[in-house]
Amino acid sequence: MTSALPIAALPKVLLHDHLDGGLRPETIVELAAEVGHTLPTTDPEELRRWFFEAADSGTLVRYLETFDHTIAVMQTRDGLARVAREAVVDLAADGVVYAEQRWAPEQHLTAGLTLQDAVDAVQEGLEQGVAEAAAAGRTIRVGQLITAMRHADRWEEIVELALANRDRGVVGFDIAGAEAGFPPSRFPQAWRTLNDAGFPTTIHAGEADGVESISEAVHLGQASRIGHGARIVEDIEDLGTDAPRFGRVAHWVRDNQIPLELCPSSNLQTGIAATIAEHPISALRDLDFAVTVNTDNRLMSATSMTREMTLLVDEAGWTLDDLRDATLAAAWSAFIHHDERHALGEQILAGYAAVAEQ
Ligand SMILES: [Zn+2]
Repeated sequence: MTSALPIAALPKVLLHDHLDGGLRPETIVELAAEVGHTLPTTDPEELRRWFFEAADSGTLVRYLETFDHTIAVMQTRDGLARVAREAVVDLAADGVVYAEQRWAPEQHLTAGLTLQDAVDAVQEGLEQGVAEAAAAGRTIRVGQLITAMRHADRWEEIVELALANRDRGVVGFDIAGAEAGFPPSRFPQAWRTLNDAGFPTTIHAGEADGVESISEAVHLGQASRIGHGARIVEDIEDLGTDAPRFGRVAHWVRDNQIPLELCPSSNLQTGIAATIAEHPISALRDLDFAVTVNTDNRLMSATSMTREMTLLVDEAGWTLDDLRDATLAAAWSAFIHHDERHALGEQILAGYAAVAEQ
């Protein structure tokens, strides 16, 4: 990374980051020893490389195996709280001032926790992390996004869990996991419940599956944001010319400025583009879609917000203004209230102005 811009110092907003994809390797080793879980290696540096290489291998089986290990050490109250606390501290150190941490409580019950126990443990850890960051001179605000796994049949139960915790740190609902074959239409009642409750939703779509998946997410699911959504470009013909032709879904997403939670490095690992320069994020920015920059899984992609932004500057020609616009787009689609979004936007503008004066 060679960018001359002081990216590390910029205030950042992170909407798409998985709690079970951002652990410190040292922590995995320690927690695995405590719970008796066998890892591919107990050397933290080797383990860091193992995660990246497995995720980068291009084979889904190896990619999914990485989460077996992180989720295995996040089954106890202490394990969940520690991982949550460290995530906040690490994000704050990277200049993130607002973050949403998504995770699927149903995957953390093998040691006897209830769904509510798990949510409580994560909330406790997030709050500890905010306090620890503050003690180190960093201000960060963090909310939980509660994820239901697409292939499991617990969506309605997980929706109720999210709603029960909406004033206790949970800011939104998400579905993740196998996209093809498990569309939002499997459980229409889940979306009706969310809609009736007026609760924000983001849906992973347009990553592994195409335009139809995005269409269901924004129409049936009434998603406020799309997790990834990179494959919306498949609904635009003659992309890159003076006269691109939009399909109905691309129009809808742009007309409504539905934010796309794009994750450049992660998207390369799952085959959406071959290089950062060719990643659809730049073309979508040029077409005035609401693009945001995210990390997805910091451990598996060996990345951070600073790294993602630096890659866009170095390899796709992004400017400071581009980074500012994407950060503001993220702030304006954060699952917080209008006045809070406004304050976050002011904080971002002040941070960029301070860097521009240097
Ligand atoms: Zn994701």
